[in-house]
Amino acid sequence: MNFSTGKKLFLSHFLAIVLVSGSIGSYFYQNAIDNLLGSLQARLKYSAALLSTTVDPSQLDQIVSPADKALDSYKKGVAHLRELVASNPDIAFIYVMRRDGEAIRFVLDSDPDSPGEPGEVYAVPVPALLEGFSKAGSDRELFTDKWGTFMSGFAPLSGGGGRYVIGIDMRADEVANKLNALRTTGALSLVFSLLLAFLFSHFLSRSLVKRIHALHRRCLEVDTSADMVSGQKGDELDQLAVTFGDMLTRLQQSQTDLEQRVEQRTTQLSLANQQLKAEINQREKIAQLLEETARTDFLTKLINRRAMHRFLQNEMARFERTGGTFSLVLVDIDHFKNINDQFGHDIGDDVLVALSRAFERSAREQDIVSRWGGEEFLILLPNTAQVDAFEQAERLRQLLDSDALQIERYPHRVTASFGVCEFAPGDSLESLLKQTDVALYQAKVRGRNQVCANVRVVL
Ligand code: GH3
Ligand code: MG
Ligand code: MG
Repeated sequence: MNFSTGKKLFLSHFLAIVLVSGSIGSYFYQNAIDNLLGSLQARLKYSAALLSTTVDPSQLDQIVSPADKALDSYKKGVAHLRELVASNPDIAFIYVMRRDGEAIRFVLDSDPDSPGEPGEVYAVPVPALLEGFSKAGSDRELFTDKWGTFMSGFAPLSGGGGRYVIGIDMRADEVANKLNALRTTGALSLVFSLLLAFLFSHFLSRSLVKRIHALHRRCLEVDTSADMVSGQKGDELDQLAVTFGDMLTRLQQSQTDLEQRVEQRTTQLSLANQQLKAEINQREKIAQLLEETARTDFLTKLINRRAMHRFLQNEMARFERTGGTFSLVLVDIDHFKNINDQFGHDIGDDVLVALSRAFERSAREQDIVSRWGGEEFLILLPNTAQVDAFEQAERLRQLLDSDALQIERYPHRVTASFGVCEFAPGDSLESLLKQTDVALYQAKVRGRNQVCANVRVVL
């Protein structure tokens, strides 16, 4: 059977409430009935035991048949019983019975209308009656006949040797009425509690089912790709579980997709990053090369005139900041035009390169050698006074004018003229260069292959 969650909740609540309230109700109901009947039974037992002492059994043995109604003992006995009935309005009948073997027979009966005849066998001996021969007792139930509702109590006659029992039929209409009222109240309260259980279960299950439906709808709103499960096996909770399961699967799937996409994107980014780094590296190299090219002379690989200009400016700035001094040596190859003319331009180039290497080799670490133009070289000697610069220039001159310098395709000596000038406070770069050039000119004029120091002249 396929019950909806609502029905299941309703039924379980309904049954639980009915069971609990039913158990409590029937406990009190049974208790009330037991109390009512119990008090009646106690009265009957007590009354039967009391009355059993008032009847003398010694005269009763002679009453055995209807003919014995004429006996005095019978008449007295019945009269006594009727007196007892008359003095006790609750008692309807009192009778005395005797056991003869298996049979129970009437002996005395207070009933004036249709009394049990002496010796008449009592047809249906109830258990309480049979017990009454040995001890006081009563019926367990009420019985109703055309005269009303009764309950009987029994007790053995004292001195009867267990053969005689006295029976009392007590009127129990009032108790029966009370029992009926109790049953009606019980039935009413049963109906009322069923109704309450119905309403309570209905509203409780409805409110729970509403929440389950709301949760289901919310899941479907969040997970738009999910369908409302209908026509599937199971109740709303099963369907909710299915929807939840689907939603979780999709969530896991989309998380995996996302992770894969992130991983892919990260790989792409790191590739792009590597490419970018390689590109930047290459550009830096190109920029470095360009810068080097811009400051280097292509033939001799010495720094060119432009770069040397920057060094000179820096040196002048340093001089202004910290003082000290520096000198310049301007070198011009003697009769270089002739070398070109006689040996060719290429050999002239070789000579330029060979001299450049020679200047570089003999320069001190702090000295800067540059190709100043054509066959002219300018050397910057930081922290060097004119006299020391002169010495340095002279060493270079002697190096050229000796066999120490061998040029591969030019097996001759190369000489050069040197102009030396120390920076003096108040010099500008132009004036300093001009003074150096003047010194070089002096060397040329004096016959070349010599060093001339500047003798300051007013320009
Ligand atoms: P001086 O002793 O008076 O300096 O005579 P010089 O011949 O050296 O001077 P001049 O200024 O008359 O000649 C310089 C020559 O240097 C002219 C030019 O062709 C040559 N020259 C300039 N640059 C280069 C170069 O890069 N390579 C070659 N091979 N020759 C060059
Ligand atoms: Mg020249
Ligand atoms: Mg020259």
